[in-house]
Amino acid sequence: METRELKPYFVLIVLLAAASLTYAFTVSYEVTPAAGVEVRLPESIGNWQGSELRYCMNPDHQREYVMEDLDDRNTCPDCGFELGGMSYMEQQILPDDTIILKKRYQHPIEDMVMASIVLSGAERSSIHRPEVCLQGQDQKITRNRVISVPIEGRNDLGVMVLDIQRSFLREDGRTHDSLGYYAYWFVGKDRETPHHLQRMFWMATDSIFNNVAHRWAYISVAGSRDGPNDEAYLDQIREFVAEFYPKMALN
Ligand SMILES: [Zn+2]
Repeated sequence: METRELKPYFVLIVLLAAASLTYAFTVSYEVTPAAGVEVRLPESIGNWQGSELRYCMNPDHQREYVMEDLDDRNTCPDCGFELGGMSYMEQQILPDDTIILKKRYQHPIEDMVMASIVLSGAERSSIHRPEVCLQGQDQKITRNRVISVPIEGRNDLGVMVLDIQRSFLREDGRTHDSLGYYAYWFVGKDRETPHHLQRMFWMATDSIFNNVAHRWAYISVAGSRDGPNDEAYLDQIREFVAEFYPKMALN
């Protein structure tokens, strides 16, 4: 990988890992196995070509690889440990029946995008906002807003977009900022929302009044931003999600 590509890629991996961990704390109630989406990430989304990500399960290595770079999908090429579909940390923390799919999507012209679907399992745990795990000592959310994504044959989809700024120390001792975005929405059976609180409300009312608790999916798209005033990434999100959404819809 070229050095130029390394920093944004690094940021995306961190975002994606953090987001999946978030979900460990957001699942609640006993669930019946009904989901609101098709749980799969397509090979391609419009002109975007997807590559599956694989993770080294060695706690001392924990590197991630793109499928195309591997001769053997199950073995780490550097340390020989087993490779898996989620990171070591995710495997440690998430309930066994959580399903996580992640892919990196590359476009001939535009910047790459990472997409993930996390489907909740049956285990109970407490409830968190996704934002909590995306903020840390060297990473902050500088803005959040819901954007409308026009999708053919239905109403616009609301998607929460978080602007992320990550600072890290370079070798010369100076701080460098890397800018990215993290966009998400939740899908339950016959329900969807970009708002965590709305989802919690539905989970509660479904449980109390309907005595059901469906499996919620958490869908995210992450990428990079060119600068603090760059707005072009919003169009990238709209374009990607408009192509992505119909491929997940239940028929
Ligand atoms: Zn390894």
